[in-house]
Amino acid sequence: MKRLSSIAEWRAFAQRVRDEGGRVGLVPTMGALHEGHLSLVERARANGDVVILTSFVNPRQFSDQADLAKYPRSPESDAELARVAGVSALVSPALAEMWPDFPAATHTTVSVARLGDVLEGVGRPGHFDGVASVVAKLFAITGPCRAYFGEKDFQQVVVVRQMVRDLAFDVEVVACPTRRDETGLALSSRNVRLSGAGRERATALSRSLRAAREASGPASARRAAMAAVLAEAGVDVAYAEVVDETTLEPLADARRGRGRAVVAGVVDGVRLIDNAEIDLNEPGG
Ligand code: AMP
Repeated sequence: MKRLSSIAEWRAFAQRVRDEGGRVGLVPTMGALHEGHLSLVERARANGDVVILTSFVNPRQFSDQADLAKYPRSPESDAELARVAGVSALVSPALAEMWPDFPAATHTTVSVARLGDVLEGVGRPGHFDGVASVVAKLFAITGPCRAYFGEKDFQQVVVVRQMVRDLAFDVEVVACPTRRDETGLALSSRNVRLSGAGRERATALSRSLRAAREASGPASARRAAMAAVLAEAGVDVAYAEVVDETTLEPLADARRGRGRAVVAGVVDGVRLIDNAEIDLNEPGG
């Protein structure tokens, strides 16, 4: 496995893969790797891609600088996990390369209209502009590729797909299912900050999604089922919604077909998110 840090080496590596007839599989991460990240690598390898995994904690997507400071970092164990998983190039670019002017406000931003203002965007203004901007830069450097994202961050997948369509990146976005632990808790780098009791309480997020799937009736009944589980567990809820999978707008009760149950809450001061597909034709769907 190559370890790269400069944009020039990274660009050249990706170009060489294509020149040799290979396909690049890009796996963008913020490091602190866990099985969820590695499942994206596995999927890329199963598709026959040569995997470039990027590890960059992007300050422009943190509206809360304290949250940025607390973000877990484990570069050495990341390198070992990436190597064992079959990553071909681990790219850890320096902040000075990615955002040479940071923290100055003089920079070019991808602005995400509407999709970036709802759900996660409500409490985190500018978050999705920061995400879209850094992902655009990763795509611009890497060039034509498949890019793997986790459905765990469902809104991120929707935002990136829209950006690829709007800005015509030569990138195929592949969304991969959420990896969970044995209690149903979605794996997240932030979980290391949960106490034992917090971990237990955090399972209410995935349990609320199951309740939404199992409830019969329209979107409002599914929402109520989620709210009940979260209230009982004492989770500080940011939102628990049933939304359209492409517009992220709340679904009306007349709506049938597929929707997405999405939930966010704070446990032990850690903000957690989760989501699941639901079928509004079917009770228990
Ligand atoms: P992050 O390092 O948290 O920015 O995540 C990097 C990528 O890994 C994103 O595409 C995430 O959606 C994905 N990811 C994070 N956690 C999981 C998980 N539990 N299952 C699947 N993918 C995940």
